[in-house]
Amino acid sequence: MIVSDTRLVFLIGDPVTHSVSPMMQNAAFRERRLDYIYQTLSVSTENLATAVAGLRELKVRGANVTIPHKTAVMAFLDTLDAPARRIGAVNTIVNDNGRLTGYNTDAVGFLAALRAGRFEPEGKKATVLGAGGAARAIVFALKDAGAAVNIVNRTFSTAAELAATTGATAFRATEEGYLRALEGATLVVNATSVGLCPNDSASPISPSLLKPGMTVFDTIYRPRQTRLLREAQAAGCDVIGGLEMLVAQGALSFELWTGEPAPREVMVRAAEAALK
Ligand code: NDP
Repeated sequence: MIVSDTRLVFLIGDPVTHSVSPMMQNAAFRERRLDYIYQTLSVSTENLATAVAGLRELKVRGANVTIPHKTAVMAFLDTLDAPARRIGAVNTIVNDNGRLTGYNTDAVGFLAALRAGRFEPEGKKATVLGAGGAARAIVFALKDAGAAVNIVNRTFSTAAELAATTGATAFRATEEGYLRALEGATLVVNATSVGLCPNDSASPISPSLLKPGMTVFDTIYRPRQTRLLREAQAAGCDVIGGLEMLVAQGALSFELWTGEPAPREVMVRAAEAALK
């Protein structure tokens, strides 16, 4: 039941209608018997400042932030935690009595999902495909965890900029570039949107580059079984899908808003149901 002191959490982005987070977070609130509700809010770029001021004034407990506002929102918050500042993106806001703090749970969520898939990045060589928002969090996370990281991106300048700020190495998205970037890699992470529904017949790399002994992590969770993951399995690689990261970052956000441990199994089941 929604009552006068029900605490509100919003997802702000544009578009937001496809998100599975409302089902996942509301299932978690119900499981913990917390009087919270999670709702999507479609917010345009020109209305972002007003929307964030509204979170503060209306005593909304917090928010998730998604495309295209993860970087722009930083200017309207009071504090940023250290990872969000370094990564340059916020995906979670907590409102403590009108003081807004920005966090990035994508990086820690990615590492949690990777380790749950039994891959320890320390001392390993990893290749990240993509240099957008998700890739930024992932490259920082892998470097902090002690991996050597190569980045390949369609737009080379973005890969080069990310490599320069993180101590990774950037390669061009050419046949030669992919070969060099993947040489000796035991982890390949797809952080591009290639393979995402409805274009799920696409894969970001040729299957000839996939070797037994590699772990292949696809951040895409729609579809759950991407063409990249199917081809990686056929090549004898271990695979990890994007749903694990989605749940891990969502669980960390839940814990920041509520101070309670997240019911991860419930969140996995709710996310799976929402994706069907
Ligand atoms: P961005 O728009 O910031 O980045 C998109 C990336 O994909 C860029 O590197 C872009 O390259 C590349 N790309 C897009 N189209 C193509 C193409 N046709 N060929 C080659 N490269 C292409 O998006 P995000 O970083 O936010 O999201 C990237 C992916 O990560 C999405 O699939 C999203 O679903 C997933 N994701 C998953 C999460 C999870 O919890 N599992 C969390 C966040 C994201 P270029 O720079 O050249 O444009």
